Amino acid sequence: MTAPAETRKFEAEVAQVLHLVTHSLYSHKEIFLRELISNASDACDKLRFESIANPELLAGESELHIDVSWDKAARTVTIRDTGIGMSRDDVVANIGTIASSGTRRFLEAMSGEQKADARLIGQFGVGFYSAFVVADRVTVLTRHAGAAPEDGVKWDSDGRGEYSLEAVTLPERGTTVILHLKADEDEFLDGWKLRSLVTKYSDHVAFPIRMPKDAPMPAEGEDETKADAAPEWETANDASALWTKPKSEISDADYQNFYKALGHDFNDAAAWTHNRVEGSQSFTTLLYLPSQPPFDLMMGGRDERKGLKLYIKRVFVMDAAEELLPNYLRFVRGVVDADDLPLNVSRELLQHNRQLDRIKGACVKRVLDLIEKLARDEPEKFTAFYKAFGNTLKEGIVEDAGNRERIAKLLRFASTKGEGASQTVSLDDYVGRMPVGQDTIWYITADGHKAAAGSPQLEAFRAKDIEVLLMFDRIDEWMLGSLHEYAGKSMKNVAKGELPLDEADKAKQAEAATAAAPLVERIKGLLGDRVGDVRVSARLTDSPSCLALADYEMAPHLARLLREAGQDVPESKPTLEINPQHALLQRIESEADDAKATDLATLLLEQAEIAAGAPLPDPAAFVQRMNRVLLGG
Ligand code: ADP
Ligand code: MG
Repeated sequence: MTAPAETRKFEAEVAQVLHLVTHSLYSHKEIFLRELISNASDACDKLRFESIANPELLAGESELHIDVSWDKAARTVTIRDTGIGMSRDDVVANIGTIASSGTRRFLEAMSGEQKADARLIGQFGVGFYSAFVVADRVTVLTRHAGAAPEDGVKWDSDGRGEYSLEAVTLPERGTTVILHLKADEDEFLDGWKLRSLVTKYSDHVAFPIRMPKDAPMPAEGEDETKADAAPEWETANDASALWTKPKSEISDADYQNFYKALGHDFNDAAAWTHNRVEGSQSFTTLLYLPSQPPFDLMMGGRDERKGLKLYIKRVFVMDAAEELLPNYLRFVRGVVDADDLPLNVSRELLQHNRQLDRIKGACVKRVLDLIEKLARDEPEKFTAFYKAFGNTLKEGIVEDAGNRERIAKLLRFASTKGEGASQTVSLDDYVGRMPVGQDTIWYITADGHKAAAGSPQLEAFRAKDIEVLLMFDRIDEWMLGSLHEYAGKSMKNVAKGELPLDEADKAKQAEAATAAAPLVERIKGLLGDRVGDVRVSARLTDSPSCLALADYEMAPHLARLLREAGQDVPESKPTLEINPQHALLQRIESEADDAKATDLATLLLEQAEIAAGAPLPDPAAFVQRMNRVLLGG
């Protein structure tokens, strides 16, 4: 029994997307064609894959292709494919009622400061709706492969809130999307225009995109021999799987165009690597580094990782970014085509497949090679890439112990010997200019560049001209938990443990500690249980005090962040280090009144806490104390 005709409302979020699409996306309107052709190509991919197990799905027209045509009189542009098609339920779920997670992210991105460009729409998995950028009515006719002709579905909408569904008889499987163009979109009723868009955006779609033969030809370079499918149609695109061609036959522009279609990106890729492995196991990889982060990555989206496609013997099997690459390389886009995996492979099977493990290992190696090469040969591009993906890459220090050293080599930091806040100093740079005898890579972590660069803990390092890496990205502290050494040098936080003192320094330090022992005891007494310990610092030259951390202790700014995020962080009492040379300490020493001395000692502790990004336990008391001292001084 066929379902009756009905009218339904779009789900609220879908309606919002449609509103945005029709009212806000004015630039690059032509992107609709890429998105609809991309959907048609996906549909052909799906059918080709499913027909391996079910050859009868290809009954009728066995050729998979996409047709683009237009009708000047009716003012329509039509995109038809002979792919998998949709059932009535599919239509409702895919292009009507049910908002995908991408819908929400798209809305968030569009309402953020950074206005989404029309060209981004495909990245959110809402590309279909780009049809409404140029059309004020869209009709979809579709029949699922394997369904009877009378089980066709007609979907129709003006994109304003409702759509209609109707059962129709369709002689052929697949999907036809008819765009009723808006009054001022006549430019898309032009064959030359449409053809040039196909060439620009969809040349490397692996299925023939056919256009009516009387469409005027572009000036040159057309291959006449391909126009043999049907007398009135001719193929307008290259229609081959790019990665199967020999590298020598692929131009940079070909690679870039393929990347853009694959990643729904409009920026060039930063770099790519294309390899064929022959042997007991043969496979091809074509992997790209984007130059800009996709919105998804910027917004922390991890759930839907698209962009790395697994093919088996040229047949698209699935988006398999999670199976083919570790999380920290989730920005990579590309294609893996394996010759030896079984075509009926499932996602579950892939997770425990030894062949796939080998391919995955090869992908990781290729990508790390590629980033290294970029860093070496194209520093400007690398800087841009690192700005976009450096923090993602850092996750690999924790996640991928086997490649830790290789990943660490790629990291860049600000430094006391670098230029301001710019993160350009590599660990190799640091090690390269270490003076003889230094065996430690020193770093400091803080909330921001200023807090790091201005930290009192750096004073002794500055005085001794020892370079310190300034780390102030939130992920750094977590990453450093897994990065204890590099190139045989241990990595240490300047706030922790022993300082690099020579024998003379040590003697001086011991002397200073003995001389200041009574002062230390007094301050301990005055501060009571607000501190774990008080000691004379070797870290300070100018400041009166700073906090020191035990090796296992978390930096105070991080502890604060984690607590704010609702995590349980064990309390630990701070260790206060003092500089007995400082006038403030001398004042405490000579202050006979215990109440006044307590105020001074407490402020000594509180300023160290503030500099370290720790929260003040009682800000009001701090302010009163400060005022007492200011007035009473
Ligand atoms: P995405 O392609 O990223 O999934 P779209 O908004 O472009 O997002 O398409 C939404 C869904 O609609 C697709 O995932 C697919 O299930 C369905 N769809 C769209 N166009 C077609 C088509 N030509 N044939 C079959 N299904 C389609
Ligand atoms: Mg799509």
